[in-house]
Amino acid sequence: MQRVEKDGPQLPAEVPSAYLEDASGLKGHAERLFAPLDEAGVATVLRDASAARIPVTVSGAGTGVTGGRVPFGGWVLSLEKFTRLDVHNGYAIVGACTLLRDLHAAAQRSGQFYPPDPTETGSSLGGNIACNASGARSFRYGATRAWVERLRVVLADGRILDVGRGDPIDFDPGSVPRPHVTKNTAGYLLRPGMDWVDLIVGSEGTLGVVTEATVRLLPLPPAVLGGVVFFRGDQQAIDAVEHWRATATPRMLEYFDLPSLLLLRTRFPEIPAQAGAAILFEQEMASEEDAAIDLWLERIEGAPGALAEDSWFATTAGDRERFRRFRHALPELVNDTVRRAGALKMNTDFAVPLDRNRDMLAYYRRRLEEEFPGRYVIFGHIGDAHVHVNVFSDPANPAPAADLFTEFARHAAELGGTVAAEHGVGKRKAHLLELQYSPQHLELMRAVKRRLDPAGILGRGNLWQH
Ligand SMILES: Cc1cc2nc3c(=O)[nH]c(=O)nc-3n(C[C@H](O)[C@H](O)[C@H](O)COP(=O)(O)OP(=O)(O)OC[C@H]3O[C@@H](n4cnc5c(N)ncnc54)[C@H](O)[C@@H]3O)c2cc1C
Repeated sequence: MQRVEKDGPQLPAEVPSAYLEDASGLKGHAERLFAPLDEAGVATVLRDASAARIPVTVSGAGTGVTGGRVPFGGWVLSLEKFTRLDVHNGYAIVGACTLLRDLHAAAQRSGQFYPPDPTETGSSLGGNIACNASGARSFRYGATRAWVERLRVVLADGRILDVGRGDPIDFDPGSVPRPHVTKNTAGYLLRPGMDWVDLIVGSEGTLGVVTEATVRLLPLPPAVLGGVVFFRGDQQAIDAVEHWRATATPRMLEYFDLPSLLLLRTRFPEIPAQAGAAILFEQEMASEEDAAIDLWLERIEGAPGALAEDSWFATTAGDRERFRRFRHALPELVNDTVRRAGALKMNTDFAVPLDRNRDMLAYYRRRLEEEFPGRYVIFGHIGDAHVHVNVFSDPANPAPAADLFTEFARHAAELGGTVAAEHGVGKRKAHLLELQYSPQHLELMRAVKRRLDPAGILGRGNLWQH
């Protein structure tokens, strides 16, 4: 191993293990670690790597769940020194490794908020941009891409791009059809006349290194109503979502099935004993006296199977934060359980068209009950027809779960959906792209990759396995 002395403070001779893994449980290896102080340093690393055809894996905060920042040889390029955070009226300028929670806090102090809300706030903005991350509030506000106004990007040859909305790419990338879903981060978004921002967002560290971004902020709503509504049965919760999606204007609709509630009860014993499923919602309001509160109470009392008396409601930021922790506790508990078992995380990230939500959920449930009874949870962004399935599989025999997830991916694609709604495909799910795209469309994407990174150094193994 070589010691890295240029472009940053002294770094350890061995690449620390923290840079060789992410939240997927995948572990890799690398020869050198670079943490440049500025863009010129990033450009030098990339130019040297391109000349020597050395793979470079870009590293954000390491919360990714697809192995995207896990290197298999070559160099790790950490953006950890890029932590600029300037909040202005209507926008913020953020360094690539500014953490989402720091942006949230700074925006809030200025009376604003950053709408995309991936639940893992320890992620970096660069990582969010690379994965086109989205979250619970994306039901109303969409994914990261919609909120990026400007990017500074270093390309594989060391060129530095400073590009804003409407700055077109300087070649024709062809066109790849998009699935009929509200969230998609599978492969590159390609269409004629597109701009650089759209191309780089969601490219998973394979087309360029994001060093800085300008993202849009909105004024904080005067009040927000939050609720965790418990239901006796699963079908009743799903019926309520379909009804509320059509008749109300929440900014989030999140789902927890019974196995999820059983897991959550280890941290939240106050979950009602008779609950068979739950929906978390948030509604923005003009004031704390807004008529929306009564409307929601009526809606919930009128929803068949809703446990209105036992459900939880909040209008204060503190109580809503409790609900956020409740929501976030689930993937954390899943990750802890998987890690303790020494297994790789097995989770889905598929979304389908809204009118196929019920079909997909029924398919998941039937096949999981057949193959993994008592060893799975289903939860997540049901408003966007995008739930996560997690299976607790045998670490010594992961193949059955992997096969079932491929079957799920194929089914989602057949329904007109996507094989990656918000996490990207990284290394662990790269094989799923061919279920969604034709060989011709994948070739268009590869042509863009070859054009921008002829030596194929960036994010090797992400999207493209060979
Ligand atoms: C408990 C938990 C909950 C989660 N919930 C959500 C959720 O609700 N929604 C969601 O979308 N995701 C979620 N995630 C996944 C994860 O937080 C996101 O994928 C996040 O965007 C990753 O950011 P990161 O900084 O940790 O990136 P990393 O893991 O470091 O990297 C992810 C990918 O981005 C690339 N990359 C990182 N920085 C840059 C850069 N500056 N330039 C170019 N490429 C770069 C890497 O090479 C890699 O391919 C969750 C994860 C956990 C552990």
